[in-house]
Amino acid sequence: MSAYSIWILEYANVPDAPTSSLVYGQHNVGVEKLPYAYTLLRGNGMNILLDCGMNAASHGMEFVKRYNVSDWISPTQVLAEVGLTPEDITHCILTHAHFDHMGGLELFPNAKFYIQQHELESWVSAMAMERRFRWLMRATDTGDMIYAVQLAREGRMIGVPGDVDNLLPGIDVRLAKDTHTAGSQYVVIRNDQRAESEDVYIYTGDLIYRHENLHGGQPDDPEYLPVGYALGSQTNLVMASDEVMKGVGNDIRRVLIPHEGKMTTLYPSRVSKSGHYIVEVALRKDDTSRVA
Ligand SMILES: [Zn+2]
Repeated sequence: MSAYSIWILEYANVPDAPTSSLVYGQHNVGVEKLPYAYTLLRGNGMNILLDCGMNAASHGMEFVKRYNVSDWISPTQVLAEVGLTPEDITHCILTHAHFDHMGGLELFPNAKFYIQQHELESWVSAMAMERRFRWLMRATDTGDMIYAVQLAREGRMIGVPGDVDNLLPGIDVRLAKDTHTAGSQYVVIRNDQRAESEDVYIYTGDLIYRHENLHGGQPDDPEYLPVGYALGSQTNLVMASDEVMKGVGNDIRRVLIPHEGKMTTLYPSRVSKSGHYIVEVALRKDDTSRVA
């Protein structure tokens, strides 16, 4: 029995992302469409977002230009497709601080946010480095960092100390240190709420961009190929990939990947009027389908 309904909600895309940024080592093989999405969990009296997108209408514009982000729609538009408003979001677990995952902080006025302590600290340190180190900040909005610290002051941004079980009921977080970023975390959803769960989903953030990262294009003889864009170590990314696959009993369908457009082929889905996909991964008994 599902404790949470789970939807993956696309909110923008990059039509021409270099494949080499998505799968390490695939140089000079062109570009491909990269969807941007966050995930919504609804249950136990809560509406939980996993990552919170970006605000392309204001400060996110710098990143829209830098990465050619297209077709952005606001959380008001995205959530209307599942019958919610941004005010309804009660909690948000941030996998990391990049602009497309943490850039929407101010758009969810009632949410309490969770991020790894190490992630927050590392970005404040990176901001304080001299100008020649600015490549480190290429995908992080300093405005987001300032707002994150402001939210911490208000008690609405909580720094998570490493691995925590039941951060929210049936939801665990795991630190993947020095991987995509210094303090990336992934989210384990035990949707039967049992300690020895038989109904696990893992939301990866950007530890994984594509199924190819998990099987190297060879599902029958899988090989981990790390993501192409990483501040930490490729070895650590490979090890984190293995943790994720073990965590879901090697069932790739249970790996929820925000930038993987093929999620629409694994679960019921539909495309909204604005052209964005909604994937329905799980449905609580008392909930109604948003894709039927
Ligand atoms: Zn991302």
